Amino acid sequence: MKALLVVDVQNGFIGGNLAVAGANNIIPTVNRLIDEFDTVILTQDYHPKDHISFYQNHDGKKPFDTIELPYGTQVLWNAHCIQGTTDADFHANLKADKAELIIRKGFHQDIDSYSAFMEADRATRTGLAGYLRERGIDTVYVVGIATDFCVAWTAMDAVAFGFDCTVITDATAPIDIDGSLDKAMADMAEVGVKFITSKDILNQ
Ligand SMILES: [Zn+2]
Repeated sequence: MKALLVVDVQNGFIGGNLAVAGANNIIPTVNRLIDEFDTVILTQDYHPKDHISFYQNHDGKKPFDTIELPYGTQVLWNAHCIQGTTDADFHANLKADKAELIIRKGFHQDIDSYSAFMEADRATRTGLAGYLRERGIDTVYVVGIATDFCVAWTAMDAVAFGFDCTVITDATAPIDIDGSLDKAMADMAEVGVKFITSKDILNQ
């Protein structure tokens, strides 16, 4: 059994507080893929106002600076996807209604969470792996934003948790800072994430 994981197709990343270039363009493709899958799961970046990943919460820092946290290096972002704001809502054009599960992530003030499976401390689990197993799902296809952060971490964790995982590349949009896209693609390939484009599914 397979599922489609739609990562963070939210206002914040599409013209919002952490806008990703070209992210708007993937929505029609993501919607066509949603139509093709029986099981669709959405993730939603969902931060408290005082979240540790926001540069505004660290004196003298600016966007894309990094800080060292107990769990490792953290990139600092413009404040985004704050709980209860429209920035955190799914984009109005996304076919979100079909989703059977919404995984919210990044809600712990002191831990970021790019991955839908495990938070950035690499210890706190979201419960997604257990949910998928209980639903009999062993294969996941990942789309969404951003290719080199939340999509990549989700895909690599899917493999780490024992799932067959494929990223549908033309249904993702990257941030690409300091070579992060090339690195993420190489890292995903190395652990066994597979790559296809949407036509491999939609033309079947
Ligand atoms: Zn975030």
